[in-house]
Parts: sequence; C-alpha cells; structure tokens
Amino acid sequence: MGRAFNFSAGPAVMPEAVLQQAAAEMLDWHGSGMSVMEMSHRGKEFISIYEQAENDLRELLAVPAHFKILFMQGGGLAENAIVPMNLSQGGAMDFVLTGSWSQKSEKEAGKYGTTRVAASAQAEGFTTLPDPATWQLGADSRYVHICSNETIHGVEFHELPDLKALGSDAPLVVDFSSHVASRSVDWSRVGLAFGGAQKNLGPAGLTLVIVREDLMGQALSHCPSAFDYKLVAENQSMYNTPPTYSIYIAGLVFQWLKKHGGIAAMEQRNIAKATLLYDFLDSSSLYVNKVAMNCRSRMNVPFFLRDESRNDAFLAGAKAANLLQLKGHKSVGGMRASIYNAMPLDGVQALVAYMREFEKTQA
Ligand SMILES: *Cc1c(COP(=O)(O)O)cnc(C)c1O
Repeated sequence: MGRAFNFSAGPAVMPEAVLQQAAAEMLDWHGSGMSVMEMSHRGKEFISIYEQAENDLRELLAVPAHFKILFMQGGGLAENAIVPMNLSQGGAMDFVLTGSWSQKSEKEAGKYGTTRVAASAQAEGFTTLPDPATWQLGADSRYVHICSNETIHGVEFHELPDLKALGSDAPLVVDFSSHVASRSVDWSRVGLAFGGAQKNLGPAGLTLVIVREDLMGQALSHCPSAFDYKLVAENQSMYNTPPTYSIYIAGLVFQWLKKHGGIAAMEQRNIAKATLLYDFLDSSSLYVNKVAMNCRSRMNVPFFLRDESRNDAFLAGAKAANLLQLKGHKSVGGMRASIYNAMPLDGVQALVAYMREFEKTQA
C-alpha cells in the first residue's frame, strides 16, 4: 500500500523528504564515514549539526536573543516537574485548566510548591477557553501555566494571554508541545515555553525548552543537575549526552520548514487544512465537533459520530482507505484527526472524501 496518511497524535507524521534524507545519510553522514547516531556529541560533525539546528529554530520561531534554547530529554511530562523545580522557588503557581494536559501539569507541580487554579473549563467539558479577564491571578505567583494547545480536547489558544495587561508580573509558562512551529509565537508574552518533539518537530526523545535568561539560576537545591536550566544552558545542552539522533532529525525538519516558507507559510497551510475539516464537520449530520469556534485547535481535531455504534466500521473503512490512527484518546472517546505541519493538504482532502462517502452509506 505504500505510505499512508497518518493522523496520529504523536509520535506523528514526519515530512517524507526528511525521512528520505535521513535514509540516504544513514550509513555515512556527509562523508564522515559514520552514521549520526555513532558520532560523539562533542565532535565537530555533531556540533555543526547541533548549531545549525539551534540557529534554524531560532530563526524560524523568531526567538529573541535574551531567550535560551535548550534541547533536553524527559518529554512534556518531565517538564511538568522540571519547570516548578526551576521556577517555583517553593512558592505559589497559578494554573489555567483547559484540558488533560494542563490538569496533569497542575497536579505534578503540586509536589514542588503550592498550586492554585486561576481558571478552569472543566465544567464545560473542556470545550471552551476561560476568558483571561476572569482569571484569578495571585500577586505572589511565581508563574502562570497554560497549555496553549490541548492535544486531547482539541482546544487552542489563538492568542497568548498578556499577563501584564491582566495586572500580573509573573512569567507565563506555556506547554506548546502539540502546536510548536505551527504558528508564530509572541515572545513578549512568554517566560518559558516547552514541548516534546514528537508531535510537530521530530522523533520522540527530544524536549525543547525556550526560556528567558533571567528566569534561570533559581532552581531548588534538590533539582537534578541535568535538569537545572542554568547548567544545561551553560553547557550548550551538553551537560550530559543530548538525544543526538533526535536533534539531527529535528534539524532536518527545521530545514524543511525553511524551504517551504517558514512558520508564516506553514500557518497559512494549517489554517487551510483545519478550515477544510471543520467546515465539513459543521456541515455534516453524522459527525460533530463540540469545541467552541473561537478556540478550535488547528492541529488536533476531535470529532464524534452521532451514532457511536458506527465507530468500529468508520475506523475499519478508514484503515482500508489508508487513513491511519484516527481513534480518539481513550479518555474522551470518538475520533481525532491530528493534522500537524507534516500532514499535507492532500491528506485532509482524502480524509474528508472518505468521511463524506461513509456518511452516505449510513443514510
Ligand atoms: C504529548 C503531550 C505531552 C506529554 O509529552 P511526553 O513526551 O509524553 O511526556 C505534554 N503536553 C502536551 C500538550 C502534549 O501534547
């Protein structure tokens, strides 16, 4: 059957050109006589790969000079502990609960300080975003945490909150795991952003942290050295061995993004893909998406069949049509189409065509 359209939430679809390049370079990278995974992380070959990746990412995301880019490990979930270990100073932290991922972050941070819920959309089943004007932000807050794209509930902040305008001096911490590089970031509103690579940047194993310099150097004394942002930054993310192969592949993805017009062009493509899918869902009498219009995710589109007894038939037909991994997260059920940067418009068109045909057979 060849390569399918893969709607997995993560690890997820990669640009085919990147996989081909990695395959071509697998045994002998640029005449070095080695695969990238066989190189010393301190050798000049890998250092050049690392520096190119960091520079390309800084350029793509327009990361200002007073932010450090760290390539870490442990995934988004480890950052739920690493962030409070580095930023809380044992004090209070405010969380905005908009779905499963921000809930997890709040729970984990409670091990390192006092967490407070500034706002929650739980009563609405996480189908809306609480209006920032209603957030209860503490004056003594060490930081305010949001998940800017809730991968499971399909809720996205289309604009980051301006905490200063809300009367708070606390830095904003953003979990952008599942929509990093899908749109531009207003760094003037951000203190720290983190994300696992396996949704939109590359293979699992690499965790991206972008942190304002003045927030480093205040880690709790029991914070593991390998997770102390200041130490990691001082050692160019090589305090210990970084996930070298994942960094290399992410670097190829950054090159691919640049070649295809950068983040602005990617954002336009993502808008076109999401609009196609949501417009179809809204016009259908079989499928439904329950998320409020103003906060629908461009990356993760959960939807339900109004007749849930047809779920298995829907998934089996999709698989036969080479449309994979559409089953929704077990905590919410239904279906989910993740349409990250590397999902071409063709893939969303094929999905919509299949869904339209399936709906006809249900009449
Ligand atoms: C996937 C995901 C995580 C967890 O990432 P791991 O790499 O599995 O730890 C955290 N936050 C969000 C928003 C995610 O989508």
